[in-house]
Amino acid sequence: MSYFLTEDQRLIQQAVDEFCQNPDTQAAMAADLATPGFPVNSWKALGEQGYIAAYVPEEFGGMGMDHTTQLAIIEVLARYSYPALEALAAHHIAMSALTYWGTADQKAKYLPGMCTGETVACAALNDPAGSFNFSEWTFGIEPDGDDFRITTTKVMVTNAHHADLKFIFSPRADGNGVGSAYIVRKGTEGLTTGHQEQRVVPIGGVDWGTIEVRDVQVAGEDVLHDTGFGQLFLQTGFMEAGMMAVVAGESAFQMALDYTSQRTNRGKPLAAKQAVAHRLVNMAIRSETSKQLCYTAARLWSDKRYEEAARLCSMAKIDGCEGASANIHEATVLHGGLGYTPSAQIGVMNAMAVSWEIAETPPDVQRDVLARSLGIPLD
Ligand SMILES: Cc1cc2nc3c(=O)[nH]c(=O)nc-3n(C[C@H](O)[C@H](O)[C@H](O)COP(=O)(O)OP(=O)(O)OC[C@H]3O[C@@H](n4cnc5c(N)ncnc54)[C@H](O)[C@@H]3O)c2cc1C
Repeated sequence: MSYFLTEDQRLIQQAVDEFCQNPDTQAAMAADLATPGFPVNSWKALGEQGYIAAYVPEEFGGMGMDHTTQLAIIEVLARYSYPALEALAAHHIAMSALTYWGTADQKAKYLPGMCTGETVACAALNDPAGSFNFSEWTFGIEPDGDDFRITTTKVMVTNAHHADLKFIFSPRADGNGVGSAYIVRKGTEGLTTGHQEQRVVPIGGVDWGTIEVRDVQVAGEDVLHDTGFGQLFLQTGFMEAGMMAVVAGESAFQMALDYTSQRTNRGKPLAAKQAVAHRLVNMAIRSETSKQLCYTAARLWSDKRYEEAARLCSMAKIDGCEGASANIHEATVLHGGLGYTPSAQIGVMNAMAVSWEIAETPPDVQRDVLARSLGIPLD
């Protein structure tokens, strides 16, 4: 937790904790984990509680709170490895684009359904040529009166198949980032979402695949343009991804502490050995510092200090994911040979840690962005 959550935010965290332990929620989670594809049951439960849109104003169907509250909710959901969490992260990228790039009419049209979860969205940015290879993205666009006709392919998109609304991003004309977002409804002629990607860790509850649009007509009123907020709308996703990783890193610490406390060597717990104890302490430091970075980013964002918040969001993503990877690695080693067996679960976490690093902008690319924002004369 953050040391500076308000009383209301603490109560919400407590409510989320109770929600996750509720037998109905547990049943929804189990059903989704056992079934490949979009986690319909745990998504529905999330929407019913209002946890999808803590920061969106009440007039658009949100809880009217802030990003700190949203992050506090995510922290608790992550502790339970909530199956719809990844779907939520993807949905949030689309929601963020709408919040910071959308007109009042576009928000009124789309946000209420997205806040309750009745309407699921995905954010399709990743081009087969490379996520950040914007100048080589293949994106055909033809004006058609007030409308546009678009042709493109996007790959490895979360919620690709199930999403009612596909937010499909074009590259900026100068090749430096994403330009506009075209909202395409499921079922639109010319849109297909066939191929589902497989994962290293084949856990259920994930819809991850390809979106193809061929000469699809998008009404002008359904296109989001950057009205000056720039690429910053993507940053809130970074603090969320950072938090999900941090919580996994904390679990790794706890698993390592439990194991080395009960496993003995010459009559004493392994954790009593200074080398092991220091490894454990380092794990705790990593989790603590990354988590406070995530919460500080959220607080700055809530205070509308976007430039500073953006920098911390990137740092939180890098630090959270790399710290979690390091913790999970350490925990695996501290489990000894058992750590390399499926029963310890820690092997599965290793594969998850890599996915957090890659998704929502890998650390190398984040560092490039940070370098520029810090005034480092990068090539
Ligand atoms: C679990 C998961 C969920 C995902 N969900 C979505 C989604 O909902 N929507 C979506 O659009 N995409 C999604 N993706 C795709 C993800 O955004 C990309 O895989 C990621 O951004 C890396 O892009 P790439 O695969 O094209 O790798 P490449 O561009 O081939 O890059 C490979 C590696 O090279 C390095 N690299 C690449 N470019 C640069 C650069 N400019 N500077 C320095 N280093 C660089 C990085 O280390 C990178 O990891 C998801 C991916 C994962 C793993």
